[in-house]
Amino acid sequence: MPPGASVRPCALPKPVAVVHVVGCGIIGAAVAEFLSHTDFEIHVYEQNSAPALGATAAALGVIMPVSSGKLVGDVVTLRLESLRYYDALPMANETAGVLTLCDRPSDTKMEQRRQQRAAQGFVLEYWDEERLRDICPQIVANFGVYSPADRAVDGVKLAHHWVGEATTRGVQFHWQTEIALEAVQGWAQSDQVVLTNGLGLNHFLPVPRVQPVGGQAVRLHCPDLAIAMVVHWLTNDPIMPDLNLVPRGNGVFDLGATVEFPPYVLPQLLHPKRLLASAQRICPQLHDARILSTWTGDRPRPLQARSPMIGFLQPNVLVATGHYRNGILMAPITAAIIRDLIIAGHSSYPWQFLCPDFLSPQTQKFKRT
Ligand SMILES: Cc1cc2nc3c(=O)[nH]c(=O)nc-3n(C[C@H](O)[C@H](O)[C@H](O)COP(=O)(O)OP(=O)(O)OC[C@H]3O[C@@H](n4cnc5c(N)ncnc54)[C@H](O)[C@@H]3O)c2cc1C
Repeated sequence: MPPGASVRPCALPKPVAVVHVVGCGIIGAAVAEFLSHTDFEIHVYEQNSAPALGATAAALGVIMPVSSGKLVGDVVTLRLESLRYYDALPMANETAGVLTLCDRPSDTKMEQRRQQRAAQGFVLEYWDEERLRDICPQIVANFGVYSPADRAVDGVKLAHHWVGEATTRGVQFHWQTEIALEAVQGWAQSDQVVLTNGLGLNHFLPVPRVQPVGGQAVRLHCPDLAIAMVVHWLTNDPIMPDLNLVPRGNGVFDLGATVEFPPYVLPQLLHPKRLLASAQRICPQLHDARILSTWTGDRPRPLQARSPMIGFLQPNVLVATGHYRNGILMAPITAAIIRDLIIAGHSSYPWQFLCPDFLSPQTQKFKRT
């Protein structure tokens, strides 16, 4: 190529000056923050009076891609990239480290995982019973995998933080503003729309593409429990296949969460008791715990598609939802991909595998009005 020549990007989307983001949970807030560093005029619409009152309000905020058994692949790449973003965000470093209690894997498996994570830039420590007793004397288990980089993030606080940052850079937030399909269709004629409205996406489509999956969690007070990291463990219970105990400071711990199909049976008061019973088995000190509160929430989970769903519903209308159990973890990388798609029509992050069949620019998929 001659010096000074440049590669002209092909298939650039029609340039837009205005972006409308529908929904302000953790995903909408992250999209607003990432886009606020661009020159677009940005409007965010939320039917509630404040950010993060939907699924995000229920999240425990545990993000643990390094501890995950999945070692490589596009999903892993995206999750680790999202975690790296959190590394650079001081307010996301409050509850650092995740300890996963498990059976001791074979030496070969441990070494393979340790090396793979080291190559990706992360540390995994294996703690035997003695080490566990030294560091967490109140936990009863014979083996644990500790990841210092995994952590818990307060999704609601973070959404407020991103909204604050975006506001200072000129993003306009419209609270108590429920957006109807007609408005989306009108904007899409000339502007860009990003649908981050979680389960609300179904109202815009002829058939539901996201299903609610209920979950509940418990806030406990246990002043004599001295655990400073997230503790994660697996169970055989189908409604609580894996649980997290998250320290929040001053003797307060969050415990959960259940996975409940269908969600409309919630709240089931028995389930918080089951949560607590499971936790007491790995941490007998919790017999002294007082339940401060319990809460429930519905996660947006894609129907017959991978999680999350990212792609064009039609030209100028992007969807970013269906993050199911990983919305807090995946918020930064989702926002980075959406920003790239708006600016350039593509992203260097792997994202196409997250685009289900019904999301494609070729056909009009909106509900007929
Ligand atoms: C019990 C529980 C525990 C969880 N724990 C974790 C965890 O540890 N780690 C993790 O990563 N994830 C966790 N999650 C999942 C996480 O909460 C979700 O993946 C995430 O919050 C989804 O964010 P969202 O922004 O897509 O959806 P929401 O937070 O639901 O935001 C969507 C927003 O769109 C608004 N909206 C909808 N329709 C319209 C409309 N027409 N006009 C205007 N506004 C509209 C809604 O009011 C809402 O505020 C948990 C979830 C639950 C329920």
